Amino acid sequence: MPTNYDAIIIGAGHNGLVTAAYLARAGHKVLVLERRDIVGGCCITEEVWPGFKVSSAAYVNSLLRPEIIRDLGLKKYGFEMLPRSPSSFTPLPDGRYLMMGPDHDMTLKEIAKFSREDAENFPKYEAMLTRVADFLEPMLTQTPPDPFANRLGDLWKLAKAGWGFRRLGRDAATDAVEIMTGAARPILDRWFESDVLKATIATDAVIGAFAPPSHPGTAYVLFHHVMGECDGVRGVWGYVRGGMGTISTSIAAAARAKGGEIKTDAEVGRILVRGGAAIGVALKDGTEFRAPRVISGADANVTFVKLMDPADLPADFLANVKKIDYSSATVKINVALAEPPQFTALPGTGVGPQHHGTMHVCPGMDYIERAYDDAKYGKPAENPMLECTMATALDNTLAPPGKHILSMFVQYAPYHLKGTTWDAERDRFADRCFDVLNEYAPNFKRAVLGRQVFAPPDMERAWGITGGNIMQGSMSLSSMYSFRPAAGYANYRTPVRGLYMCGAATHPGGGVMGACGLNAAREILRDG
Ligand SMILES: Cc1cc2nc3c(=O)[nH]c(=O)nc-3n(C[C@H](O)[C@H](O)[C@H](O)COP(=O)(O)OP(=O)(O)OC[C@H]3O[C@@H](n4cnc5c(N)ncnc54)[C@H](O)[C@@H]3O)c2cc1C
Repeated sequence: MPTNYDAIIIGAGHNGLVTAAYLARAGHKVLVLERRDIVGGCCITEEVWPGFKVSSAAYVNSLLRPEIIRDLGLKKYGFEMLPRSPSSFTPLPDGRYLMMGPDHDMTLKEIAKFSREDAENFPKYEAMLTRVADFLEPMLTQTPPDPFANRLGDLWKLAKAGWGFRRLGRDAATDAVEIMTGAARPILDRWFESDVLKATIATDAVIGAFAPPSHPGTAYVLFHHVMGECDGVRGVWGYVRGGMGTISTSIAAAARAKGGEIKTDAEVGRILVRGGAAIGVALKDGTEFRAPRVISGADANVTFVKLMDPADLPADFLANVKKIDYSSATVKINVALAEPPQFTALPGTGVGPQHHGTMHVCPGMDYIERAYDDAKYGKPAENPMLECTMATALDNTLAPPGKHILSMFVQYAPYHLKGTTWDAERDRFADRCFDVLNEYAPNFKRAVLGRQVFAPPDMERAWGITGGNIMQGSMSLSSMYSFRPAAGYANYRTPVRGLYMCGAATHPGGGVMGACGLNAAREILRDG
């Protein structure tokens, strides 16, 4: 006999959990079904080696919406941010380095080591991004309008967005359009002359995208670094005590406290539809659960192509879903270390400020472009861009005393390799990444105790993300806002009555923000 609920949520990613918690708070009887044995999706902590706890996928936070932290009382359930200062360290092959962070005086002094003019321009560049972010940020927690519907509410929202844009004034509006549609490289070339500064900033623009900084669309992600916050301080990225999984477990605890039920090892095999309306789901093992609202936190390909009968969906909608770009060029390597990497550019034993933030191996803009060029032709980059973080520099709960966890986020390496497979290449590529870091920190390879490598197909298998795309689909302008996941369906509803979307496949997209889950809950509650 199927059990009845008010709402069933497919996937206990952090967004699905946010939706569950808000619906449970509103009195709904909620069931979350997760295919894996833990909650969190791409926002998890796992004990990969005894005593070593790893943020297996996402590794830093600043985007999680402050209203969610407040509304759900996440601090009560263990959520705690550890701000990073400095937040970035870029060593160079010639022995120099650039350090940056929330300490403005330090950052400007560091930039001035390479260019006085850049140090003068940097605050103006940040102010420009902040103006654009001030315009865009409120949109994150608003449901996008459908510009093609003749509904008063949609037209009103469009008019409000247009008015906000107009209020930016001509100069800032020009910047905003360029940031939303343009390439990061020409913008950075206009503002700065120092290659290491531009390359360090450009990593923000290309992270997770199969695109180099010279590609249109990459500038959009630049403003992410001034948009989020850590403990109320804007633009600061931090670690989460206990790893990123604490975000998910604290949201899950908030949902359970309001009566929400969460089942793991429960993979949905089918969304059940009758008479054009969702009536529940069937698990892979055949167990059925019924509810008048089914809400998917999985990506659009999984939801509509894998879990549904095409006969239940309009053909043009399905065609648009099939157009979504899931290409990925990212590899994640988690490493257990006997000691921190000791950089030639800033020697010293033990943990130093260089280990607090992201350690970038990307000495210049052309380095990033060339890494992309390799991937463009179907091979992993010979000289990959590495973003390394060592949360154990600030969090002593993750590894045995004196030992460390290093997260290596690597670009570019395509899902489809030309003339070979990831099974043949996985270890060779990880070895190459280790060689590259070792050139900057010669003790690194000696210090490795264990490693875990996720190539794009491994990410797809592990976390259920199509193509290994870390954002549940490309974040290019044609896939954002009113067009995410598909034109006409950006309001968290779908062509099937009672079927909703709540994950990163919806506006405002990928990242551990919780905004998709929050917006979806608001719309579901609005429907009653
Ligand atoms: C390697 C990597 C590094 C990243 N780094 C960062 C970072 O440092 N900071 C940041 O802010 N963002 C980062 N991101 C992006 C961010 O983690 C994701 O965009 C975000 O976690 C997506 O959350 P979600 O809840 O929308 O979806 P997901 O996390 O994808 O959750 C969807 C859930 O649905 C489940 N599911 C799928 N199909 C089914 C089914 N049939 N039945 C039941 N359950 C199902 C999945 O198992 C999963 O738990 C990273 C992502 C990856 C992969």
